Amino acid sequence: MSPPDVNHCGTCTACCRVYAIPEFSKPAGKWCSHCTVGKCCNIYETRPKRCVDFKCLWLLSQSQLSNKFGPELRPDKCKVVFAPSTNERIIGALTMPDRPDAWQGKAPLKLINQFLRAGFAVSIGPPAARKQLVLEPDGSRREVRMTEPDKDGMQWSIREDGGQDGNISQ
Ligand code: SF4
Ligand code: SF4
Repeated sequence: MSPPDVNHCGTCTACCRVYAIPEFSKPAGKWCSHCTVGKCCNIYETRPKRCVDFKCLWLLSQSQLSNKFGPELRPDKCKVVFAPSTNERIIGALTMPDRPDAWQGKAPLKLINQFLRAGFAVSIGPPAARKQLVLEPDGSRREVRMTEPDKDGMQWSIREDGGQDGNISQ
């Protein structure tokens, strides 16, 4: 018998807004129609696999003995969803649509600086934004142009020569 599917997110539902859910034609930045905001997923037992599989860095940290992120960093509190990106060198920091400056709050900024000191870059912006701010471990910062979201809600950085890649490497 498989173990029960326990929700460790509490009342956070931030990722139900910031990410696209192609199964429901839900664009990034809009609340999922199956979400009771700040409470729960109404189809929790049958939600799409991408919802089952997704864990933001706050959630992942909760199962660690050390480096557990505090409650102030839960995405519904700090208004930033920190998550791995398609580039293992870069941490994504997706701000809630109505709070594009939330990353500059005390708790998220402290975490961002920890990532930078650990050698990661941090890519910051609201869902589906055509520009991301990328902070680098050497202290530099740059704006990176992004493609429109594709049918799966994925976006790719646009290089100076107009080509696309997923590495925000321009
Ligand atoms: S953003 Fe993180 S903590 Fe919040 S519901 Fe999603 S996975 Fe859970
Ligand atoms: S199906 Fe449920 S878990 Fe997935 S985005 Fe919608 S409300 Fe959130």
